[in-house]
Amino acid sequence: MPIDPTQPYDESNIFARILRGEIPSQRVYEDEHALAFHDISPLSPTHILVIPKGPYVSWDDFSANASDREIAGFIRAVGKVARDQGLVEQGYRALANVGLNSGQEVPHLHVHIFGGRPLGPMLA
Ligand code: C5P
Repeated sequence: MPIDPTQPYDESNIFARILRGEIPSQRVYEDEHALAFHDISPLSPTHILVIPKGPYVSWDDFSANASDREIAGFIRAVGKVARDQGLVEQGYRALANVGLNSGQEVPHLHVHIFGGRPLGPMLA
């Protein structure tokens, strides 16, 4: 069920619980600003989610309300994860769903990193 991206942050969402270590995840990277883990239902050979540590519902919330330091740290982490996974040479896609039309399901900002195969047209 797609979420409403204008809702207040819900501390009980599944990615908040992963951040608190209450639910296991296959972590690939963590720093002060971000946590990255394998998507539980991968849509490509590499499918990783990168989430900020702060309580942001969506890309919209994050881009409007996070500090410049949080934004810079998070963007750097997304790039580093893709680089560390060896995705740069063959190419990859980084994507954040926001709200109803996108089908965003988890109300904590997450950037999907897809790679490991040709990814096809953007909206397919
Ligand atoms: O962008 P959207 O909100 O649709 O993506 C949510 C993603 O979170 C899905 O790809 C889903 O497989 C993933 N997920 C996960 N671990 C969970 C719950 C959801 O990797 N425990």
